[in-house]
Order: sequence, then C-alpha cells, then structure tokens
Amino acid sequence: MIALARKYRPKRFADLIVQDHVATALRGAVAQGRVAHGYLFAGPRGVGKTTAARILAMALNCEQRSAGGEPCGVCDSCSRIWTGAANLDVVELDAASNRGVDDARDLRERAMYAASTDTSSKVYIVDEAHMLTREAWNALLKILEEPPPRVVFVFATTEPQKIANTAAPILSRLQRFDFRRIGPHAIVTRLKQVVELEQLRVDDDALHLIARSANGGMRDALSLLDQVLSFGEGPVTAARVREILGLVPDEVYREMLRAIVEHDAGAMFPLVERLLEAGADLGEFVNGAAETLRALLLVGVGGQPEGVTEGLLAVIRQYAPQLPPADIVRLLTILSESEERLSRSANTRLLVEVLLLRWAMLDRTVELSEVLEALGKEEGGKGKGNAAAPSPPVQSPPPYPPPYPPPGQKLEPTLANVRSVWSAVVADARTRSPMLGSLLAEAEVIAVDGRMISLRPGNAGHTEGLDRQRETIAQSLGRYVAEAPRVKIAAPETGTAPTPSERPERMTEERATAERLKTLRAKDPTLSAAVDALDLELLE
Ligand SMILES: [Zn+2]
Repeated sequence: MIALARKYRPKRFADLIVQDHVATALRGAVAQGRVAHGYLFAGPRGVGKTTAARILAMALNCEQRSAGGEPCGVCDSCSRIWTGAANLDVVELDAASNRGVDDARDLRERAMYAASTDTSSKVYIVDEAHMLTREAWNALLKILEEPPPRVVFVFATTEPQKIANTAAPILSRLQRFDFRRIGPHAIVTRLKQVVELEQLRVDDDALHLIARSANGGMRDALSLLDQVLSFGEGPVTAARVREILGLVPDEVYREMLRAIVEHDAGAMFPLVERLLEAGADLGEFVNGAAETLRALLLVGVGGQPEGVTEGLLAVIRQYAPQLPPADIVRLLTILSESEERLSRSANTRLLVEVLLLRWAMLDRTVELSEVLEALGKEEGGKGKGNAAAPSPPVQSPPPYPPPYPPPGQKLEPTLANVRSVWSAVVADARTRSPMLGSLLAEAEVIAVDGRMISLRPGNAGHTEGLDRQRETIAQSLGRYVAEAPRVKIAAPETGTAPTPSERPERMTEERATAERLKTLRAKDPTLSAAVDALDLELLE
C-alpha cells in the first residue's frame, strides 16, 4: 500500500498549491541560472517547505530540465531525489538532531566537498533550522561568506523569529520565502482531485472534516485520508471520519448553543458527561466549539464560513439570529481566557465544565430598543427623565475560581513509566492535533534509552506523519516524563517498502484482529506492560 501523502507529493514547482509566489521565483532562478547560495523557507508545518527544497534540488540536477526551469520528475536523478534514495547531491539534515558544535564542524567539512560532478549542484536541506545552535550558525555563516561553487543551502523553519534571535547576521545572507498557510477550501479541492484519480468514494462532508483536522497542512490532509481509508472498507462518510479522528458530532454543538441561548446552565454537565461516555476528546470538543463560534460570528457579520460541514452549517444558521456578534465576541473572550489553562491542566473535565457554565451564565447584550422601552416605562413613574446612557451589561462572575491543579510529578524515563502515562500523552497530543492523537493511539512505545523514547507506528502509512511531529510528541511526553525526552520513530512492524504499483491493501480478518489488539495495548498501558514483562501472547 502506497501512502497517498507520498504518492501525491509534488514533483514539479507547478504542483505546489497555494505557494505560487515561491514556485514562480524559484523556477525563474533555476531557468536563468541565478540560484542563490542560501534560502530561508519560513511558514507553518505541512505547507510544502521541504518539498519545495527537494523540487529545487531536482530542478538543479535534472537531466531533462525544461527551459522554464521545471524538473522532469522522471529521470534517474529526479526520481532518486524525490524518493529520498541515497544521493550524493542532496543532503537532508534535521536540525533537531544535528545541534552540537561537532555536527556544525562536520557540516562545514562536508560542505567543502563541492558537488559530485562538474555540472551538478549540491543541495543541503536543513529542516527545523530554528533548532540549530549559535555555534552551528557561526560555522554556517563562514561557509555562506565564501560559498563553494554549486552548493545551495535551504533552511526550512516554522519559527523564523528564533533564527533572527540566535543568528541575525545569517539572515542577510539568505533569500527568504514565506510559505502561506493552505486554506480548507484549497485542501478540499486538492483532496477531491486525489479521490477522483484514485477512484475512491469519499463524501464531501468527510473531506471537509479531514481538511479542518489537517489544520492547513496538505500532507497532513492526505495522511489523514490514508489513515481513514486504512481503517476499513466502503465509502468514507463523515461519521466514519468522526469516529476515527475522535471528532465530536454536530448535534453536541447544537445542544451547546441551545444551552447558551437559553441560559440553561444545568444542561452543561450532562453534555460533558455524554461526550466522555462517547469517548470523545474534550480538547477536540473545545476546538470544535471555538470553530463553531467563529463560524457563527462570520455568518453574523455577513461572511461565509469555510471548511464547515453541511450539518454544522445548519446548526449555525439556526442559532445565528439569537446570538448577535457582540455576544459571540464575549463568548470567545471567555474561551481564550480558559484556553491557556486547558493546555496546562490535567483536569480538563472540570475546566471544560466551568467554561460551559460561564457561557451559559453570560448576560446577553441587551438590545438598545429594549433599554429605551424600559427607560420610557420608568420615566412615567419618576417624572424627571435622565438622559443617562444605558449601563453596559454586567457580566456574571464565574461561579467559582477555576482551579490550578499542582503540576503532576514527572516520571523517570523508563519503559514501564512511559507506558504507564502513554494514554495521557496521547490525550495531550490530541489537544495539539487530533491526527497526531490518532497516530499515537495506534503507535507503541518500544524502547526507552536515556532521554530517547522509541515509538513504533501502527502501520507503515503512519511513519511519515509521526516522524514529522517528533518535536510535538516530545512536548506532550515532556509533561509527564522528566529530563526533556526526545523521540525516535522506529520502523513499522510489518514494514515492507511500498511499491508504487500496488493497490491499497484490503483489510483482512487477521490484520483487523492484529490492529484491534495493538489498539487495545496502546489504550491500556498496564495490559501492554504485562504482556511485555511476561512475554505473553495475546489471544482474542
Ligand atoms: Zn529529471
């Protein structure tokens, strides 16, 4: 089974969706032989930075490059670079694991060896470049001051301001491109093309949910689609996507809005209870609630919300007339006050309940006409009319101060410890990204060596997604495990290299059982630890 994320990764500048400004500039530079020695590709995760760097490397070394600067995508050199096969002319470095002085010296020595032939160019792609140390940057600065011929450095980063802080002088040596976030509409359009090319049956609403969960990353969107397809057969529906990604049904948001509009604080506890019983993730629910309010606000000011399912749009249209924009802004303000606490607290349930109660108890904006009417009635009794402006609506104080639970004690990094907190780590990761949560729920902690924690993906299609988010996984782990853990993604268990010609594998009975057991083990660390300790074999 070849992952869609891999199969549909762009091979030409023209394939880079949304990043036309970058594609045009790079293509032109290649065509005119004016490629710079150093580039900075800045932008959010999953918008094509590394891909663009690879295409640049392909274009520079392509045997049949077009006059316009596009690589052919099929020649020996192109396919080697595209598949990431061993290649003398392209070196990809992950700054997160090449941080030390020695690495920088090594890098410098390696860079001194120019390209392998007289005509080829050597391209260094440094991912997560903001993780490089000051020493490493100093070494690189020396290289960029006197660059060897036909050597190109591409630094990709999600946090360019960190580079400005540690290595300001280097920035003047780099040509900077800012990659744009890919909107849900562009993602859905691309997903529809892929679905058609693959002859898959996927509902539009399902694609909207996937696009929303992908959070602006095209590759994440394709990985998510892969993931949803790998969980079963038949057409992909919105319900299936919700189930797999742990998303919350639209009906819950309808009930939430009803309770807000009707000041029905009592309804909020059963609502949270129902969510928990259904196994939904509260972090995901809060994200969805924020999306719903944002879409309501947009509709309220005459806009058109993007990436919202038909079901949710119906809910929004139903409640838009009863929630004026001023009220929604106040609801969102309360949410942003709670959000930071939510990201730090272990007691999510209580915080979500408090948030919902505050929403239900919020005094609504009083219509000016109502105020005037009320004043008019009063005037009759008092005789003297004050031209006083209506006093601003008073906001109810929260029913009780939201708690700050003491930070949980962190555990020593051992295999048993990491496994014992694994379900909490997965839940934490889910609040950062639902997809990452699903990937981790399928993954298994297989080894802990010092600070290095090794994970095995649930299936081969998950490897890339996990590998790309090692830093985020480490952050989630770091909330429970001491000594700033680092993460390594091991080869998947049945990892045979995918070949492009293979059709997606069908889910066999046997494989379904194995998947179920793996999920079971991932969900129950005690069971998992016992299985490992006693070398048990799991029977159905
Ligand atoms: Zn080529």
